Amino acid sequence: SGRWAKAEAILRELEEKCGTPTAKLRQVADAMTVEMHAGLASEGGSKLKMLISYVDNLPTGDEKGLFYALDLGGTNFRVMRVQLGGKDGILKQEFEEVSIPPHLMVGSSHELFDFIAAALAKFVATEGEGFHLPPGRQRELGFTFSFPVRQLSLASGTLIKWTKGFLIEDAVGEDVVGELTKAMERVGLDMRVTALVNDTVGTLAGGRYNNPDVIAAVILGTGTNAAYVERAHAIPKWQGLLPKSGEMVINMEWGNFRSSHLPLTEYDQTLDAESLNPGEQIFEKLISGMYLGEIVRRVLCRMAEEASFFGDTIPPKLKVPFILRTPDMSAMHHDTSPDLKVVGSKLKDILEVPNSSLKMRKIIVEICNIVAARGARLSAAGIVGILKKLGRDTVKEGEKQRSVIALDGGLFEHYTKFRNCMESTLKELLGDVAENIVVEHSNDGSGIGAALLAASHSQYL
Ligand code: ADP
Ligand code: MG
Repeated sequence: SGRWAKAEAILRELEEKCGTPTAKLRQVADAMTVEMHAGLASEGGSKLKMLISYVDNLPTGDEKGLFYALDLGGTNFRVMRVQLGGKDGILKQEFEEVSIPPHLMVGSSHELFDFIAAALAKFVATEGEGFHLPPGRQRELGFTFSFPVRQLSLASGTLIKWTKGFLIEDAVGEDVVGELTKAMERVGLDMRVTALVNDTVGTLAGGRYNNPDVIAAVILGTGTNAAYVERAHAIPKWQGLLPKSGEMVINMEWGNFRSSHLPLTEYDQTLDAESLNPGEQIFEKLISGMYLGEIVRRVLCRMAEEASFFGDTIPPKLKVPFILRTPDMSAMHHDTSPDLKVVGSKLKDILEVPNSSLKMRKIIVEICNIVAARGARLSAAGIVGILKKLGRDTVKEGEKQRSVIALDGGLFEHYTKFRNCMESTLKELLGDVAENIVVEHSNDGSGIGAALLAASHSQYL
């Protein structure tokens, strides 16, 4: 019938507009490399902020003692403590996850940091056997804060802007360590922040602790971002003394990358226009977990409106922004049952569509596939951009240089088809060099990494 023909047409158009043939991905990778150079050359030189992290030494494995870490950056925040035993490695670790009440994500700075400090104090109170703080010492914390920060030192930095659904105006421009420290004082918690790191930088540090070949870290979670180890002399905008190590970790803030080569659709355009941060984080809006399900919802909306995809009426729930979450999209995408019953039950539970035909369900799986593949392939292109910048995208004569990329985040961890597509696209783009490039899942590397950096920058060293 005409209804299906129209739905098919919308689907084919989506497929075409989201297309990421190899040649296009190479253009994206090249553009990423170009923007990296520009962002390193001067402040404001590019959409890529290429932020200096002040991390000029990564963990060595000698770190010792009890350290805390706090990870704020998405829907959950995590508190952890770790007892580091030097060459004996990690002796003990514990963590707790606390979900952030949504009203605090768009409220005041004071309230958010009070909530965090209170949760941290509660966690500290449960410190038990196996954790040892030498008498007379203050507890120390690595603060993983996954938003763009202009660092003033390793342990201080001002918030440039919020992303990923957070919008707390009075915190912008403030030193987030100062805000946290004041909140800790208000709840009577005696703790010092000795490292403020982005989650990518934490993941890089945690990854390096386990594997000396780790040179970059990528987060694919609620948002997306990357950090890598740059040669200090290749950072023209760096005015300070060159670090002894000759290296500096750069937080790219690649979520804000944009390029005319990105395959943007009408759905992406309206998603962006109606978002909390229009015009910003365009790469992130194509790739990350916060947005993939929402893109699928927007496609379904159009199908409902123009092709009566769900029948004569449009399911009211379909009109609710962000109602279709990426984990639900992922569950539908991975449905292997012959009648696609997972898709059927998601439609029923989330969109209140009680009866769906197999034909409908198949189209929905195809939409998921198109949207996920585009995100996965673009993230692979981003990684190739970093490898190019470092000259690690080619095989050098007689050299077997291994490059390990530490990956973390719920999207990478749980969305198998996304992950597989990203990894196979890397191979597609790298050819023979792919043998020397390893993607490693760094499970909760950012928390451990922040604790490790807190340890190597302890006030007691
Ligand atoms: P954050 O990025 O908020 O720090 P995570 O790294 O845990 O936290 O990532 C959480 C994100 O991962 C969620 O917002 C969601 O988009 C995505 N995610 C979680 N579980 C799944 C899943 N099963 N399938 C696909 N995406 C998932
Ligand atoms: Mg995270």
